[in-house]
Amino acid sequence: MVLIKDGKRLDGRDFDELRDVKMEVSVLERAVGSAYMEWGKNKVMAAVYGPRELHPKFLQDPTKALLRCTYNLAPFSVEERKRPGPDRRSVEISKVTTEALSSVVMLEKFPNTVIDVFIEILQADAGTRCVGLTAASLALADAGIPMRDLVAACSAGKIQGEIVVDLMKEEDNYGECDLPLAIIPRKGEVVLLQMDGKLTKDEFKKAYELAFKGAMKVYEMQKNTLLGSMKRFVGEGGNDDGN
Ligand code: UDP
Repeated sequence: MVLIKDGKRLDGRDFDELRDVKMEVSVLERAVGSAYMEWGKNKVMAAVYGPRELHPKFLQDPTKALLRCTYNLAPFSVEERKRPGPDRRSVEISKVTTEALSSVVMLEKFPNTVIDVFIEILQADAGTRCVGLTAASLALADAGIPMRDLVAACSAGKIQGEIVVDLMKEEDNYGECDLPLAIIPRKGEVVLLQMDGKLTKDEFKKAYELAFKGAMKVYEMQKNTLLGSMKRFVGEGGNDDGN
């Protein structure tokens, strides 16, 4: 499959260009915090419940909360219907997402509790773990859960010998490599880095830099989204007393 023509990608993007990204918070009434994102053709919802007392009790940690992220790919989200329920892939993504977010959430403030984060992929078009992680981070902030920073994510990879940012489905399928990255932007610390495929050392460096830059752009959008939501809240006369 031809992925690059006249220096442009299938959807007309340059090599260092992200797909269109939209994000919104406080989209669900009953969750403590929530976020909805569209990233290219991906459509993802994230919702936070908790902190609440963890049951069964023997799982409780008196020094900190348990963070539990559940990534779910909806049966109708992909071209070929996905069998409902967890599989190896979703268990893996839930685990790496939980680990990435555990480095920013101040879990020590909520001993003996659990914070549940549900990530629902409603429509998938590659890069969903990056979108899910970015949306989950927004939903946690929207829930008012203290965090050291947000987590922002973006992937890069190799298609037809070229290093490009933010692979879409066709590029993920027919390309040579995909490299999802998630960072704590203020520290520049990496909290998720995976690689599906092969890269030379120089290619890896280039892909890493592109993904990092992409994640920093996503971080700016996250901050603007949260700021916008706060301004609307204040504008509507909300305050700490809940009045
Ligand atoms: N995908 C699919 N069926 C599945 C799992 C994945 O069609 O059961 C598609 C989906 O579009 C996904 C893409 O393959 O976004 C790439 O999946 P990958 O495991 O690389 O994770 P992602 O790039 O979404 O983080």
